[in-house]
Amino acid sequence: MTATITSTSASEKRLINCAAVDVNQLMPLKYDWAWEHYLNGCANHWMPTEVPMAADIALWKSNQLTPDERLVIMRNLGFFATAESLVANNLTLAIFRHVTNAECRQYLLRQAFEEAIHTHTFHYVVESLGLDETEVFTMYHSIPSIAAKDAMEMELTESLLDPTFTTETHEGAQQFLENLIGYYVIMEGIFFYAGFAMILSFHPQNRMTGIGEQFQYILRDETIHLNFGIDLINGIKAENPELWTPKFRDHLVERIRHAVELEIAYAEDCLPRGVLGLTSDLFRDYVGYIADRRLERIGLPRQYQTRNPFPWMSETIDLRKEKNFFESRVTDYRSGSTLTWD
Ligand code: FE
Ligand code: MN
Repeated sequence: MTATITSTSASEKRLINCAAVDVNQLMPLKYDWAWEHYLNGCANHWMPTEVPMAADIALWKSNQLTPDERLVIMRNLGFFATAESLVANNLTLAIFRHVTNAECRQYLLRQAFEEAIHTHTFHYVVESLGLDETEVFTMYHSIPSIAAKDAMEMELTESLLDPTFTTETHEGAQQFLENLIGYYVIMEGIFFYAGFAMILSFHPQNRMTGIGEQFQYILRDETIHLNFGIDLINGIKAENPELWTPKFRDHLVERIRHAVELEIAYAEDCLPRGVLGLTSDLFRDYVGYIADRRLERIGLPRQYQTRNPFPWMSETIDLRKEKNFFESRVTDYRSGSTLTWD
């Protein structure tokens, strides 16, 4: 008896609902963008423990930080410490299983490791600064503005963990797309950005530079996560255009508008009196600006038309630059020298 050897051609590959194709057979590639994002992720490898924390520790233990500045830092550590785990769990338990394509799964494996590194970062920061680890890692329960963002995400994960869930029905496939949009566009694309702006605004003053550098690395990784997510979402839409109904689009816009309100409430909660020239009013404009960019990229109408009050952030994060923006750093890493950022 001879075993029948079947092989998959690139044209047979589909992003979801492709049970007939061998998901173990990576090549020939069909979705080159997925492989590109995978290579970009690998080229950006970093570890939080490579970032020196001595200056941050000295500043944290001094009286040179105001109570409001400490609040901004603590709230953002608390939000990100758990948000990274929510993303990782959704990725491995909810998304991975339903993406029926080998090159996308290759990227998801890389992303999952990056999420572990991000969670590791918060462990390292808490340990370095001697913070109360339980306080930081339970803020997603104890701080209402964080709990509200996370509750929105956790609901999306739970609905996919139902053993009867399938992407083979119209509703199921829409639910899967909503999960992808909820995590890649809302969590990693909107909920992370007020925090990035707050933490990175310490940098020009040369304060908390260790945390700042770690956040820059995380932001760089998240930029690729977001770009992969948008390619995956748009790819599924292109292969399954019947999913993208006017009613579904309205629902998604409503969800994104809700997320924007949660993010503005979070910023108000972190900045009750304004810190470092940042006020919650500026964040209303900024979060609207970020949300409009995300909406456009998945083919939904802009909602806010606000200006970007933090142009220095757009220089850091312009989504089209991710391939070469950090090139010098990557070269440094490969040559085995210490981390630099220029
Ligand atoms: Fe992350
Ligand atoms: Mn991520």
